[in-house]
Amino acid sequence: MNRPKMATEKGVPSNSRVMMLLGQLERMNGDIVRQAETARQVTAKILHLIQTQEKSGKEVMSKGSSGMEVILASLESTRDVQTILNILSILTELLTVGRGRRVGVFVSKGGTGILFHTLLSASKEMPPSEELMLQLHSLLAKVGPKDRKFGVAARLSGALNVTVNLIKQNLQNPKLLLPCLQVLRVYSTNSVNAISLGKNGVVELLFKVLAPYSKKNTSLLKVALDALGALLKSKTNARRAADGGYVPILLALYADWHRNDARHRHMLIRKGLLVCLRNITNIKLGRKAFVEADGMRVLYNSSTECLPVRTLDPLVNTSSLIMRKCFPKNRLPLPTIKSAFVFQLPHVPGTGPAGRTYSQGPGVDDVVDESDDNDEADTENDTENEEDEKDQQSPNDDIETDLNKLHPRKGPGRPYEELRVYERFFVELSEDFQGFNFESSKSSSNTSLSSPFSSSVAPVRSPPRPIIVPTAQAFSPKHTLSLPGLPKDPQLPPPASASSPPAPLTPLQLDNIHVSKDQEKTEDSHIPTTDRRDRTLSPLGRPPTEAQTIEKDLAHVLERVSLDALDGVLPLDADEAHIGVKQDDVSVTRQIQSPLLLGGLSARRSGGGGSNWSSDCGSEGPEDEAAEGAVLEVPDTALLLPLHDPDLYVEMVKGTLSVPQYAEVAYPDYFGHVAPTFREPLLERVYGVQRAKIFQDIERLIHPNDILDKVVYDLDIPSCPVIEDDGESLKFNSQFESGNLRKAVQVRKFEYDLVLNSDINSNHYHQWFYFEVSGMKVGTTYRFNIINCEKSNSQFNYGMQALMYSVQEAISGSPRWVRTGTDICYYKNHFARSSIAAGGLKGKSYYTLTFSINFKHKDDVCYFAYHYPYTYSTLKMHLSKLEALRTPQIYLRQDVLCETLGGNGCPLLTITAMPESNSNDHICQFRNRPLIFLSARVHPGETNASWVMKGTLEFLMGSSPLANSLRESYIFKIVPMLNPDGVINGNHRCSLSGEDLNRQWQSPNLELHPTIYHTKSLLQYLAHIQRAPLVFCDYHGHSRKKNVFMYGCSVKETVWQSNISATSSDLQEDLAYRALPKILSQIAPAFSMASCSFVVERSKESTARVVVWREIGVQRSYTMESTLCGCDQGKYKGLQIGTRELEEMGAQFCVALLRLKRLTGLRNHQHLLDLESDIIGSQAKVVSSSCPTTYVLDEDEPSFLEAIDYSAESNDEDLEAENERAAEVREHPDLLEQLSDSDNHRE
Ligand SMILES: [Zn+2]
Repeated sequence: MNRPKMATEKGVPSNSRVMMLLGQLERMNGDIVRQAETARQVTAKILHLIQTQEKSGKEVMSKGSSGMEVILASLESTRDVQTILNILSILTELLTVGRGRRVGVFVSKGGTGILFHTLLSASKEMPPSEELMLQLHSLLAKVGPKDRKFGVAARLSGALNVTVNLIKQNLQNPKLLLPCLQVLRVYSTNSVNAISLGKNGVVELLFKVLAPYSKKNTSLLKVALDALGALLKSKTNARRAADGGYVPILLALYADWHRNDARHRHMLIRKGLLVCLRNITNIKLGRKAFVEADGMRVLYNSSTECLPVRTLDPLVNTSSLIMRKCFPKNRLPLPTIKSAFVFQLPHVPGTGPAGRTYSQGPGVDDVVDESDDNDEADTENDTENEEDEKDQQSPNDDIETDLNKLHPRKGPGRPYEELRVYERFFVELSEDFQGFNFESSKSSSNTSLSSPFSSSVAPVRSPPRPIIVPTAQAFSPKHTLSLPGLPKDPQLPPPASASSPPAPLTPLQLDNIHVSKDQEKTEDSHIPTTDRRDRTLSPLGRPPTEAQTIEKDLAHVLERVSLDALDGVLPLDADEAHIGVKQDDVSVTRQIQSPLLLGGLSARRSGGGGSNWSSDCGSEGPEDEAAEGAVLEVPDTALLLPLHDPDLYVEMVKGTLSVPQYAEVAYPDYFGHVAPTFREPLLERVYGVQRAKIFQDIERLIHPNDILDKVVYDLDIPSCPVIEDDGESLKFNSQFESGNLRKAVQVRKFEYDLVLNSDINSNHYHQWFYFEVSGMKVGTTYRFNIINCEKSNSQFNYGMQALMYSVQEAISGSPRWVRTGTDICYYKNHFARSSIAAGGLKGKSYYTLTFSINFKHKDDVCYFAYHYPYTYSTLKMHLSKLEALRTPQIYLRQDVLCETLGGNGCPLLTITAMPESNSNDHICQFRNRPLIFLSARVHPGETNASWVMKGTLEFLMGSSPLANSLRESYIFKIVPMLNPDGVINGNHRCSLSGEDLNRQWQSPNLELHPTIYHTKSLLQYLAHIQRAPLVFCDYHGHSRKKNVFMYGCSVKETVWQSNISATSSDLQEDLAYRALPKILSQIAPAFSMASCSFVVERSKESTARVVVWREIGVQRSYTMESTLCGCDQGKYKGLQIGTRELEEMGAQFCVALLRLKRLTGLRNHQHLLDLESDIIGSQAKVVSSSCPTTYVLDEDEPSFLEAIDYSAESNDEDLEAENERAAEVREHPDLLEQLSDSDNHRE
């Protein structure tokens, strides 16, 4: 080593005594061994000076001084114990002051290595000097935490063993033991050291230090626990501890400290014991040992005693974490997780999801596969959200980088002969209006009877023929397109659909329906009889013969009751009903008999279901009979809701075909929903609510005798889903259109576990729910737990509430859905499914959505839903009523695009303005209007998309000048519900084929995905005749983000995000795709430009948006996502979203299209929009963010807001750190955006 020269010139007084002594020491260094006595004296003097004069220390450590080098050089070269002790004392004195910087200097001068070297030398003396070892370890303990290479240096120098041996020899010597343990604690934080120390028996050794409650040696115990906790992070060590029977010991110690530490002076020791338990229980063996040692009870009891003391939260939280982890995983209380309903597909592709679901034998699909964590390497990474982590990585990999794929491919790729059949859906493009009398239509004010363009009576001049779509099996009847006016089979009436109330043989003038109630009654003949043909879709759950019998019975009852409803139960004259109507209040009522619901109900349920009004109302025994036939006053919502008509709704339901063959109508759909005028703010989360819920869950295990476990509703018993009841339980029902609830289990007196049904022909996708509750008591709080949610996080954790509809409220004048529920949270629970059923390598946990309800009315019937329901029958009713809004100036045509797998019609609307006259110019303008193509509701659970669509349709049919010029500007082609079957059957995401239809656009199958196949064909036809739409937009809902926003497609922005090299031509792209969202962000309060994304992802390549962009060549091809929750910007900031806002969004979309027209008429519109700067702005945001996935806007919330409670299985996060992060996020909501995690299932 180069001998450092004493620096005395700069900033250090040359006459300083300490510096003179150091100089003397330096000169001695060459020969320090011989001058032992002098060295002893000099170092003693230096020590004295530093101990007595603060400035001496400062001089040694000051910048420019080489004092530290001299001291270290002396330490390295001397062998004299006393000199070494002196120097160690000097160092201790120096490093005690001004901690950080001085230790940093020490480390940077190689001090740690010299200390280890000294330690090794000293250990070779026999016996080693205790004083020296004490000093050395004290110093090492001080330096270690600041030296990042400490652990490695210790291992390489052989210091680990020296310290361990010292601990072994000094278990009864606390004075030396303490610094040794402190050093061991630092060693153990290095994972390689931890394994090595474990092999050398240190885990067992540390257990010898642990002791029951005592006021003595508490710091020793604390340090030992820290070291042990660090060692137990290694799975090998955890296994060693579990095998060695140490889990019961830790539990006993914890219980002892908990009991005796009455004044909470030793929180850290208690926490240390819990951390050891937490780390051991990361492995399966540890969890098993914990449960066997009655750990659940021990921690539950101690935690409940800690709950009242807020400062003990860290103990409660860690206990809660351990208990959740150890809570034995259960399968769901179901015979199988496959859907309770089966739909027999025309053919089942073995590779498709339905094929996979079918092929799984019974009992395999939902047995929890506990071998998951046998593999140690596997569990090392067993964190809470493994799937999410995978997702988080994928977005970057997910960007489309194939430039060939990024460039829109023109040309439909199909021969015109195949597409020609779609010509008939575009009558307007060839219409010449020669037979139409424009003069007379102008004079007739509000009836359109004279118009030849009423629904399904579109002016097709050549006799209509069935359309055969040429395929390999072209001549199967299944391939016949159901066109209006064309029965597929002369024996059978056509499928029911929006426009099919006009049955072909008795063409119904829908226009008549709205005229008046009286007319409706007298014109029964216009309402076609329900489609009661023998269905091919018999539910496989029961024998077909039985099913058919039931169906016939139901059909019979259905007819009877519908007649009742029309003739007998509407005593009020329509004129009377209109008396005294106030526009702002639903004060007018009319009478209706109970039970309302199509009668099938009472025939089917001997016990009386929830919807059975009479038996629910008078649940006092004999009064039941008295109440039979009672007449209820109900609001006439038709007066406030121009598109709503309860009787028409019932008629529509009759023509709707469901797989379970529903015969009931839910009250909310019957009465309608009048949006409330009050604000519904995002719910603020109560502190600790999740923890409280989890403790209640854990109690089930601790006090099993308190648990009722009484099944009160079960769709798996098809004959009688409603279980007989003594009046002590709520009654549930979900057997109506869009209903979803599979099972209800009464867990405690006022608590119910609810299980949702999988999408038909699948075994998952549970999210949407819609069910009925009755038999409630007032003045008590009910807790509902939906226990088989699948998403790892939910907007229910960020202010969203479920929706409730009270029939009592409806009757008293407030027919509406309201955001309801308190104590809401969403967390991982103890239910799971097997890896096989989950389709992956690991079993998948379920999540609980829990909320509490106080019912306001006795004998109420209430409905709960995930979001505002919007059924297929509602759509048909709305479409029927829209006809009534038509004026002679409006061109409206309703076609049936095709029939779904379930036999329901898929409506297609054409809306534009009639030409001014049949002059050449006017006809030409009419035909050449650009097309706008809109669709919605491919995902059944995204009901908000339908409400937005309703807003669009109502605006388009409106009489405002804006609507007028919009119609004159464009031809609108609209498929308002791409997935009727999914909607009808209460699916969340799929169609009857068990597939996500928005992943089928690349190659839709005619048989399995008819609505997608034909919608795509329409677009291909348009592309072929050079009339590709100006705008394509598919309306969706988003469950994990706030606001309304759009996804589009841009080569440029995709290239930017992916860093692939691209030629400049790739970057020359018209910015037109940004115009529409930009306009929306200016005029629609719920719309947020910041949430939009224009990146093309590989995982989305078969969505409507990407396919229409790439294959049809529509530059403005969008997915519009509306939040299910609420807004965090704009006028609605802090509020949950309602139907009013959603419908407004749909209307604003129309207004934006009008502005778009104005802009596209201008040459420099890009300049006006300032789009380029927008993009640059968003680019900058991406760059400035440290999170590489910012651009993926699928999620806007972090996984762990309430981190402690939430991450049941995160094994290595420091809880306090997690807390801080969560608090940080709360203070800086912007972080939420950056912490976004992704979810491939959206869109
Ligand atoms: Zn969607």
